[in-house]
Amino acid sequence: MAKLLFDLGKNGRKGYTLPPMQVAPKPVETLIPSKYIRKTPARLPEVSENDVMRHYFSLSTLNHHVDKGFYPLGSCTMKYNPKINETLARIPELKNLHPLQPAATSQAALKLMYELAGYLSEISGMADVSLQPAAGAHGELTGLKMIRAYHVSQGNPRSEVIIPDSAHGTNPASVTLTGYKSVQIQSNEKGLVDVENLKSKLSDQTAALMITNPNTLGLFETQLQEIIKLVHDAGALVYMDGANLNALLGIVRPGDIGFDVLHINLHKTFSTPHGGGGPGAGPVGVGKKLVNFLPVPRIEKDNSGYCLRDDFPDSIGKISSYYGNFGVMVRAYVYIRMLGEAGLRRVSENAIINANYLMKKLEPFFMLPHSGPAMHEFVLSGKWQRDRGVKTLDIAKRLLDYGFHAPTVYFPLIVKEAIMIEPTETESKETLDRFAEAMIEIAHDVENRPEVVLNAPTTTVVSRLDEVKAVKEPNIKYNFDRLDRM
Ligand SMILES: *Cc1c(COP(=O)(O)O)cnc(C)c1O
Repeated sequence: MAKLLFDLGKNGRKGYTLPPMQVAPKPVETLIPSKYIRKTPARLPEVSENDVMRHYFSLSTLNHHVDKGFYPLGSCTMKYNPKINETLARIPELKNLHPLQPAATSQAALKLMYELAGYLSEISGMADVSLQPAAGAHGELTGLKMIRAYHVSQGNPRSEVIIPDSAHGTNPASVTLTGYKSVQIQSNEKGLVDVENLKSKLSDQTAALMITNPNTLGLFETQLQEIIKLVHDAGALVYMDGANLNALLGIVRPGDIGFDVLHINLHKTFSTPHGGGGPGAGPVGVGKKLVNFLPVPRIEKDNSGYCLRDDFPDSIGKISSYYGNFGVMVRAYVYIRMLGEAGLRRVSENAIINANYLMKKLEPFFMLPHSGPAMHEFVLSGKWQRDRGVKTLDIAKRLLDYGFHAPTVYFPLIVKEAIMIEPTETESKETLDRFAEAMIEIAHDVENRPEVVLNAPTTTVVSRLDEVKAVKEPNIKYNFDRLDRM
């Protein structure tokens, strides 16, 4: 081959000359009947590899993403996902497994799942964990089905589940799907569960209290022990929505506080990118009372290795066609193994410090309805700015001009013009300072030149959309000038 390409010649330097042109191809007319031959050449784009690369690279930077800039949406949506997770989730030995493959030829995958469930039990303090639910909401449904099965086994299914008004919308939705009625309790002025209000709603019809801790305001429920005792004394169970576990790793184990069920969002706390609705994993942990009701199949270990078992007569049955979102489990497993006990604790400690640092910096400029040490996130209100005619939505849009994604806005529902900021553990002090400076500058602009905020964003390729119209007619207003400048 080498000889064909670089034939030895007499004239070239060091005795080499370029090879002659290879044999010219036969004219196309000799190969294809003339009636099929085009009369005019096809208008194909002629672009160099450089131009193609630059085109796609530039497109890849038009959207905001966590590789490009800060994302104060936090673990709930987009915390940093280590690249090694992705590499390992894609190794052929794991990626190419078929869910119907016999256990004997999928021992590594079963071992990984068995160990992951063990780590999650240890982290959460629950007796056992099922990895099957494919999202937090699916975990809620699974947990509530087990709660129902438990009450049925006690002779009375009961009919109600109590939920605080600060809850995520999936909580009441899951309650309804399970066939229960959701009963709301108000948060007190501190943003926490109002114990008196809870007492007034507890009855022999209460199947469970469903509570998020730390709650969606980023506050740790300080009266949990009293709350859990009240609920248990009423014969009901306590469900913890563990979507905010990023604040508790290695610090608090929900099982130790007395929770009977919790779900964990692997795609949040344990780092899987999940923009655009998937994929996720919402493992459910249970205390001893509920272990028999866990979904099947369950992974067990015996002398011959790992196996899948279906023979649990009290189980709520299958809740997933196979075993859940395996790729997400691999990422969570890598994340946990890589960080270890001390590393996981640092994740939460840094997440909490970063949130409190930002909260203190922004407190003079934005209303902080519930002051109190924040956990991994805090919620501001844009009410002062709203009174001057600038909505939280405008502030969110203006942040784009500074190269920041917007935080979660208008949630939780109990805070008017809510701005929920969750910086996460991986952001540097410099990034947090830049974000705080941008927010403070926006607050000044609201006072002095509100039109700048009202017309934002002005530096992005797509400018402000007509919110109402965009839902029905998603015609994007491209700003070609800006595109050319990029
Ligand atoms: C994200 C979230 C959920 C739902 O989890 P999904 O995985 O999105 O289904 C439930 N509760 C809280 C507090 C959340 O943040």
